[in-house]
Amino acid sequence: MLSDNIYAALETVVGAENITASKEDLLCYSYDATNTTFMPDAVVFPVTAVEVSRIVELANREGFSIIPRGAGSGFTGGSLAIAGGVVLSTERMKQTLDIDEENLTATVEPGVITWEFQQDVEAVGLFYPPDPTSKKISTIGGNIAECAGGPRAVKYGVTRDYVLALEVVLPTGEIIKTGTSTMKGVVGYDLTRLMTGSEGTLGIITKATLRLIPKPQSVITMLVSFADIGAAAVAVADIVAARIQPSTLEIIDAFSIKCIEEYDPERLGGAGALLIIEVDGTEESASHEAARVREVCMAVGATGLETATGKQDVKTLWKARRSISPALFKLKPNKINEDVVVPRSKIMELMTGLEALGKSHDLIIACFGHAGDGNIHMNIMYDKTDAAEAARAEEAVNEAFELTLSLGGTISGEHGVGTTKAKYLDMELGPVEIALMRTLKETLDPKGILNPGKIFMDETVAEGSTAPNTNA
Ligand SMILES: Cc1cc2nc3c(=O)[nH]c(=O)nc-3n(C[C@H](O)[C@H](O)[C@H](O)COP(=O)(O)OP(=O)(O)OC[C@H]3O[C@@H](n4cnc5c(N)ncnc54)[C@H](O)[C@@H]3O)c2cc1C
Repeated sequence: MLSDNIYAALETVVGAENITASKEDLLCYSYDATNTTFMPDAVVFPVTAVEVSRIVELANREGFSIIPRGAGSGFTGGSLAIAGGVVLSTERMKQTLDIDEENLTATVEPGVITWEFQQDVEAVGLFYPPDPTSKKISTIGGNIAECAGGPRAVKYGVTRDYVLALEVVLPTGEIIKTGTSTMKGVVGYDLTRLMTGSEGTLGIITKATLRLIPKPQSVITMLVSFADIGAAAVAVADIVAARIQPSTLEIIDAFSIKCIEEYDPERLGGAGALLIIEVDGTEESASHEAARVREVCMAVGATGLETATGKQDVKTLWKARRSISPALFKLKPNKINEDVVVPRSKIMELMTGLEALGKSHDLIIACFGHAGDGNIHMNIMYDKTDAAEAARAEEAVNEAFELTLSLGGTISGEHGVGTTKAKYLDMELGPVEIALMRTLKETLDPKGILNPGKIFMDETVAEGSTAPNTNA
C-alpha cells in the first residue's frame, strides 16, 4: 500500500487529474493479455519526460516500484504490478511530434498507437513496417520495450530495425538521449539497442525517433489451403529456399481455422491448414513474385489458392487472422501461449513435433503465426480446474521448449520473457550471460525500482510472479 504522503507527492508531480487509486480504475490496469491480474497501488499518467523523471526520483527516495505500461497487450506479464507498486501509463503521451519527409524519420511519444501512426505516415507515402497483430491497440513504447515483430518481419525486420534514437528516463531518474536521428551512428556503445527489448526494466522510453521507408506501391494478398499442416510447412520452407521474399507468410493450423471460420466459412472452413501470403513492391515485381509463390505452393500440393480482391476482402482476411488469439478460448478456458522460433528450414520438424506433443499429452496445441521467419505461436489449451490437464500442459511447455532449442531455435521471438518465461531463462542462456544481464540491471537500477520481478527469477517476488492470483 502507498502511504497518503506518497500519493500526495505523486499528485503534486502529475496533477490530481493524472493519478488514480480508485478500485475500479486499478482493476483496469491490473491485467494484460496473459489473463492474469495483479492490483497496483496507484496508476499515474504523466505527460512529460520531466514528470516521469520526478516520479522515478520519488520512487527511489521512498522505495516503491514503478511498472511502465503502454496498452497492456503484452503476452508475458511485463506490465503487471506483480508485487504492487505504481503503474506508469504512457497513454497520455501520445503525440506524433514530427514526420520528417525529407529525411524519412518520425519522432513520437511512447503512447502513440502503432496503427494510428502507420496511417499518418502512409498518408504522406511513407511506411513504418513493424506490425504486431495487436497494432490497433498496442503502443510504440510497448513495441520498442518488447522489440515487437509481426507478420511483415519476414521481409522488413522487427521494431529494433526502425529505432534510431530514444529519450529514456533511467531507473535513477536521469533523462538520457540514446542514438542519433541520422541513418548511421557508431559513437559509443549502442544504448538504443540495449533499451529496445529491455521490457521496461532498464528505462522508461519517453520519446522515439523512428526510421521510415517509402510505401510499397502494390501489395498482393493470397490465401492458400493445404490438406494438413505438414504440407503447409513444406510450402513455407520451399518459398524461402526458392529465394522468394514475401512481405508476409503466415501459417494457420486446423484448430485455429475452426475458431475463425465464421469470418468467411466458404474460404476458411474445411482446410487442414492455411497460409496467408503477401508480396509487395512495384506492380510488376509484386505480380511476378505472386506467380512464383503460386508455382511453389502448387508443386507441394496446395488444395486451393485465392488472391484477395479489393481492400474489403484483404481486411476480412486480416481481421480473421488477428482474431485467432482471443478466438482460441472457444476450445478451452485457459491457454499457455508461447512464441517459439526455429530456423526456417526446421519449420516442418517444429510443426509436426508440436502436433505429436499434443497427441502424446492428450492436449490441444493450436499453432499459427509468422512462419516465414520461423516464429510460431503455439497455444496449449487446457482447463485449469482440471489439475491433471493443467499439469500435462506445464509438461508440454517444457518439452516444446526442449524441441525448439534442439532445432537451433529460441523460446521467444517477440513476446519477451516478462514473468511467464522467467523460469525458463536458463534453458536458453548460460550462467555467465544471465549474470552479465543481472549486472547490467543492477548497475542501471541499483534499488530495483523499475519493473521488478521481470525477466529474472527474483527471490523477493518470484512466488507472486509465477503464481498468478487470478485467471480471468
Ligand atoms: C491479439 C494479440 C496479438 C499480438 N500480436 C503480436 C505480434 O504479432 N507481434 C508481437 O511482437 N507481439 C504481439 N502481441 C504482444 C503485444 O501486443 C506486444 O508485446 C506489444 O509490443 C505490447 O505493447 P503494449 O503497448 O500493449 O505494451 P504493454 O503490454 O503495456 O507493455 C509491454 C512491456 O513494455 C513495457 N513498456 C511499455 N511502455 C513502455 C515505455 N514507454 N518504456 C519502457 N517500457 C515500456 C512494459 O513495462 C512491459 O514490460 C500481441 C498481443 C495480442 C493481445
